[in-house]
Amino acid sequence: MINVIPVSRNTNQLTFEGRYPNKVFSDVRDIPNLPCAKCGQKMLVRMEDQNFLTKIRPVLKTCLKKLKKFQKVKGYKILEQLANKYPKDNIDKILQKEEEKEQTNLLSPKLVNEVRAITYNAPFVIKKLGKYRKYMDSTALELFDILSVYAEKYPKMTFNEILSKSEIFNFHKEAVLLEKAALEVKAQRIFDKMSILTSKKHSPQNSDNSIQETLTIANCEVLRIIKNNTNDDGRDLLLEQVYKNVLADIQNPKDVEKFKNLIKSLPKSSSNPHRIIVNTVQNESPHGIIYHLMNKINTFEHIKPKSQKGENGKHNGIYLCSDCNNKRGTTPYSEEFTMFPDFAKNTQKQASIVMRYILRGKLTGYDYYPQEVKKTLYEESGHIFKLDIKKYLKEQIKKYTDSLNKTRERFQKSREDVNNNKKELTKLQQKQKILKRKNKKNYEDLKKQKNKLEEIKQILKDDNNFGEDSTRVLE
Ligand SMILES: [Zn+2]
Repeated sequence: MINVIPVSRNTNQLTFEGRYPNKVFSDVRDIPNLPCAKCGQKMLVRMEDQNFLTKIRPVLKTCLKKLKKFQKVKGYKILEQLANKYPKDNIDKILQKEEEKEQTNLLSPKLVNEVRAITYNAPFVIKKLGKYRKYMDSTALELFDILSVYAEKYPKMTFNEILSKSEIFNFHKEAVLLEKAALEVKAQRIFDKMSILTSKKHSPQNSDNSIQETLTIANCEVLRIIKNNTNDDGRDLLLEQVYKNVLADIQNPKDVEKFKNLIKSLPKSSSNPHRIIVNTVQNESPHGIIYHLMNKINTFEHIKPKSQKGENGKHNGIYLCSDCNNKRGTTPYSEEFTMFPDFAKNTQKQASIVMRYILRGKLTGYDYYPQEVKKTLYEESGHIFKLDIKKYLKEQIKKYTDSLNKTRERFQKSREDVNNNKKELTKLQQKQKILKRKNKKNYEDLKKQKNKLEEIKQILKDDNNFGEDSTRVLE
């Protein structure tokens, strides 16, 4: 939602425009609060995420106190030297320093991860995280609330330490187990219906048990998927794949449809804070919990996947939050748009905002993006999805026509100037001709007079010589 404020206050006529930042962007990933093209949630710009992660890490010196057990590890000495050299910086800031690249490149990634896992105490992190609440989905918000409670209960500890406490870890683990058990009960009811559907049409004398066996094997695999997969993307298609052999054995097309509907009615496991906590502690270092709250970072999504020679250019990209992008995989857009009706809607919503930024001059280098990305989306969606860019093109035409008219006016004005100058020039040239003629005449006069002067001088000289000679003669 864009806040509207009246602009052009000095006129009586009010025009309403979105509140655009003063900055002009050169990358869509820097536009604040842009909705994700898939889930439609507001996204964090890249820098905000970077800044945040830098802020929740204490200075390197403090971290090293907690890493005493790594004292013998190669690279610890380097860290100590760096900590002394930069007593006010944390590991992220130090790693960014160009002048220390030679040193920091020698550090083992494992050691660097250990240092980066150290955050400030829980209450400080919660305080900093509060600012990003608007970027959290419902699960992240639930997780945030749980973490807030822990921060209050253990104010002197980091989340790394809190979540690793056995009583806390076990509590969440139990919650996950209970959820999985409930899922299994629900799934079992559907499995029973499937069993009845596949057996009733078979005559007893046929006593074909093979289909029941195939069904049982498939059910085990399906149960495993349901329990562990919190990702909805393409789930029903995946499950249909598992039941492929069962479906092939069903004779009546109506029963095939019924069976497919049963697949769809299988329970889904939801992504919930307990699962996130357990997975984080089990699979990553517990600081990773922060990333689950910061999973709405604006990322570039290749419409035509890289693996299928999709290019990196703007024309091949829309923008997804890191969460959606991580889940997407390489499902073709033709399927994506069918499976998620909101995807098309949100892609249009995002593109419309981007187009407004281009038209307002707030995004440079993207003038051809709308028509190019429209083409890519149309091709990759199997000619289903047509991005609406009419309004953009109309405004672009208007903008260029206006600027063309202005240029034309300027051209006419300068042409007049040239003509006026030409006239002026002709006059000056004529004037110069006259002046030149005058000048020539003056020069000739000068020459004549000079000659005359020389002549007279010569006469005087001759005359003088004549006098001298005559005197000498007279002597
Ligand atoms: Zn998203």
